[in-house]
Amino acid sequence: MRFKFGKWRWLLAIAALSLCCALFLWRASKAECWALVGDVVCQVETSRPVVALSLDDGPTPEGVDAVLAALQRRNVRATFFLIGNRMERWPGQAERLVAAGMELGNHSYSHRRMIGYSEAHYRSEILRTDALLRAAGAKTTNLFRPPFGKRLFGLPRAATATGHRVIMWDVADDVTHHPTPQAYAADIVRRAKPGSIILMHPMYRGNRVERAALPLVLDGLAARGFRIVTVGELLSLQES
Ligand SMILES: [Zn+2]
Repeated sequence: MRFKFGKWRWLLAIAALSLCCALFLWRASKAECWALVGDVVCQVETSRPVVALSLDDGPTPEGVDAVLAALQRRNVRATFFLIGNRMERWPGQAERLVAAGMELGNHSYSHRRMIGYSEAHYRSEILRTDALLRAAGAKTTNLFRPPFGKRLFGLPRAATATGHRVIMWDVADDVTHHPTPQAYAADIVRRAKPGSIILMHPMYRGNRVERAALPLVLDGLAARGFRIVTVGELLSLQES
């Protein structure tokens, strides 16, 4: 009887430990500012009033139309993390971004959650997309953003091995809690600070709030005295 009780206690302890490990790995897989493996950038140390704007997914024709209009009207350059298979689906859109002076980054080929695959698979996702970015005219392809921000061990290693920095964010869009363009934009503008990397998703048909909010975000950041730059420019302004 005593043996059985002890065995159950062990089993419970192992189950609890496994649950804790799973929770820790789940949390670690989407942490914006730290990583179990490799370096991750979520913001840059600087005293200057400067922030980077990063726009994920696509490129879709309607997304590029809307975003370029808002950015070019204000003479702002941003960083677009593009998906390889979307570039193939809508050829010419990445080229429009390059022609407008925008910075392109790598957001994988398939945009699947990149956990549980081999490192070789991650490398092929990154390199295939790099080739498309270069074919579109991108000069540098050394910035990588994991789909959904998710990564554990193999993906950061593959990113480093292929010459990329893993770029996350410290200010992300939040349509769930701020469902109108005005509330959404006000939330982003309020949370931005010197060196922030802002993330928005304006590309798809369902991203109407994000698209409508973009001009408000740009004007709100300017009103707070922020200069908006690309992620590459922000990294070059790192002070420590
Ligand atoms: Zn994405």
